[in-house]
Amino acid sequence: MSTTATAAVLPATGQPFALQEVTLDDPRPDEVLVRIVAAGVCGTDMGVQAGHIPFPLPGVLGHEGAGVVEAVGSSVTTAAPGDKVLLTFTSCGTCPNCLAGHPAYCETFLPRNLVGGARPDGSSPVHGADGDLNAHFFAQSSFATYALAEERNVTVVSQDADLAVLAPLGCGVQTGAGAVFNVLRPTPGSSIAVLGAGAVGLSAVMAAALTGARRIIVADLVDSRLELARELGATHVVNSGETDLETALKDLTGGRGVEYAAETTGLARLLEAGIRALAPMGTIGVIGAPAAGTTAAFDVNFLLNGRGIVGITEGDSVPQLFLPALVELVLQGRMPLEKLIRHYPFDAINDATAAARSGEVLKAVLRVG
Ligand SMILES: [Zn+2]
Ligand SMILES: [Zn+2]
Repeated sequence: MSTTATAAVLPATGQPFALQEVTLDDPRPDEVLVRIVAAGVCGTDMGVQAGHIPFPLPGVLGHEGAGVVEAVGSSVTTAAPGDKVLLTFTSCGTCPNCLAGHPAYCETFLPRNLVGGARPDGSSPVHGADGDLNAHFFAQSSFATYALAEERNVTVVSQDADLAVLAPLGCGVQTGAGAVFNVLRPTPGSSIAVLGAGAVGLSAVMAAALTGARRIIVADLVDSRLELARELGATHVVNSGETDLETALKDLTGGRGVEYAAETTGLARLLEAGIRALAPMGTIGVIGAPAAGTTAAFDVNFLLNGRGIVGITEGDSVPQLFLPALVELVLQGRMPLEKLIRHYPFDAINDATAAARSGEVLKAVLRVG
């Protein structure tokens, strides 16, 4: 027995996706077969397509899957057929960082999620007409009508959930919101700067708006994104193409600087400006990923007043705790995710990725099934 599915296969770097019929293995004891309803397009998918991330090809991408459980392996206890689920990153569960409650910093995060192209034992769960495809991307490869996930990267959500809106919680939204809720944790009356108003940055803004932060300052080059940032809770916006960012952040905080910052663009010069604009004891979260080997410069003595720089992956979240909490905020209307989303039919995946790449769309979500 196996499952027949339609998958968007990326044949090679720089190529468009092509829909193909594939077969999926039956779930192993710890695996969950999910009928995909919707899948968000995230920066990492486009990073692979552009050749910036060494995921082996031809392969099946997609790591913001949402769907309905079709079948579960014999040892799975936390999901059952018929459950609505969100798919996210996976982790080993047994390394020191997983045991300490930080699965996003799993010591085998990269091979398990990003660059492996297969299960940890090297087998592929997805087979094409010409043999095995590279898959198991974030233990899901959800640009397909069915996906085989692991129990560890499956979160059951409310049956009321609109999966076509919630799919991006699994990576982009969790990344931005988690940086604020789980790591930076702005205190009442404080100031936070969010650098970059893409899907991750605006998710950070929505989260910051639910804290007691007094000033939420958002910087971007695109005025329409800054307008949306205001709608989502920014108290001040800065067009960083027209104004010097460091000066603007200091001016908006009476010369003191910001207590928290979240750098979501991956641009080293914005990170450097963000560091220079930190108040004493301020912390900047590094969330955007530049090309491998990118360096940034800062005055070492500047850090001695308690300032800190912290790198953050996937919002440092424990998905089975954090994703249901975010779902509740969305269902209550307190995190208006739908303002970021444009939906595309599955067979328009190349239009969706083009719109996401150009910045015309903040968060493209494919309606898969
Ligand atoms: Zn992602
Ligand atoms: Zn681990």
